[in-house]
Amino acid sequence: MCYELLKTIIKNSTNIVFFGGAGVSTESSIPDFRSENGLYKIKKDFKFSPEVILSHSFFTNHTEDFYKFYKSNMIFANAIPNDAHIVLAKLEETKKLKAVITQNIDGLHQMAGSKNVYELHGSVHRNYCMKCNSFFDSKYILNSKTIIPLCNKCGGIIKPDVVLYEENLDMNILESSIKAISIADTLIVGGTSLVVYPAANLIKYFRGSNLVLINKSSTSYDTQANLVINDSIGKVLSSVCEF
Ligand code: ZN
Repeated sequence: MCYELLKTIIKNSTNIVFFGGAGVSTESSIPDFRSENGLYKIKKDFKFSPEVILSHSFFTNHTEDFYKFYKSNMIFANAIPNDAHIVLAKLEETKKLKAVITQNIDGLHQMAGSKNVYELHGSVHRNYCMKCNSFFDSKYILNSKTIIPLCNKCGGIIKPDVVLYEENLDMNILESSIKAISIADTLIVGGTSLVVYPAANLIKYFRGSNLVLINKSSTSYDTQANLVINDSIGKVLSSVCEF
């Protein structure tokens, strides 16, 4: 019943934007460190909480400990796109979907073929030398012989192009996301409980006719949505979009 309605909404839309959170990646076996399971594992191995370790000041003051955590908990070299990523990439090909806005840093949307992706929190696949600005991929970080990866051109410390706690979001990406949402006729929000900044703020810019929320649990925005589906995002999207 819900799926039929979602099918109709997608069929009648010409400017869809998808906004996704951690739930999109957990279906590719990338743990959400905010979830109970994720936290349990981390507490066993590290003295600090992920929020502390993934902060700008921790990176600056304890770079080696930052990288010990980062390499084992944030880069998933073997992760592959799931049904949600694949369907969204195909939906972009049909020109119905105009943008994917994501809070995830795993690059799986691009791996699935999506082109217009706004990564609010950056990407583990981009890393730059803090001295000379050279860019490096995630393999370079993982294969680094030293715990702290160093630039092969100037020896400078490499920093992931990921937005850490205490750091600001990239204004250009934020503005592009707001623009995409504000002109969309349908906004599909998936795999996020909409409690983490800036997710909740962003959907306020939506002026279109269909707000669709797909999440395993309910969110505080359910009453504002035209359609709420409490199920797996990959399962829902692959069953409504037949290509
Ligand atoms: Zn350098």
